[in-house]
Amino acid sequence: MAAAAYAGAVRRSAKKGTERAFTGKYDGFKGNGIYQCAGCGNDLFKSDAKFDSGTGWPSFWMPISKSAVREEVDKDMFMSRTEVLCRRDGHLGHVFNDGPKPTGLRYCMNSVALKFVEKP
Ligand SMILES: [Zn+2]
Repeated sequence: MAAAAYAGAVRRSAKKGTERAFTGKYDGFKGNGIYQCAGCGNDLFKSDAKFDSGTGWPSFWMPISKSAVREEVDKDMFMSRTEVLCRRDGHLGHVFNDGPKPTGLRYCMNSVALKFVEKP
């Protein structure tokens, strides 16, 4: 991994920042494979669970496993939201209850938090 990309991921994790909509490299991306944590390489999402939410952020309806991520209620904002974090390190995005079937969940991720690995 490029050192600069890693530094960016660490800064992003520390600040809990959300990248601007439609600016992330994985927003409209449609490869087949696995999305890993940009910080530690933990497998997070399969491309099968990615869907076009129209929000401008890469969105998934299910993580690759329950243990891949952890969730915390984020009360930094006026509304409380559920923050999604990598099981091993930092902030990835948020999860909302307006996703598609079968889970009804929408994992709204920051592209900078993800690293795509192609799997044929
Ligand atoms: Zn990680």
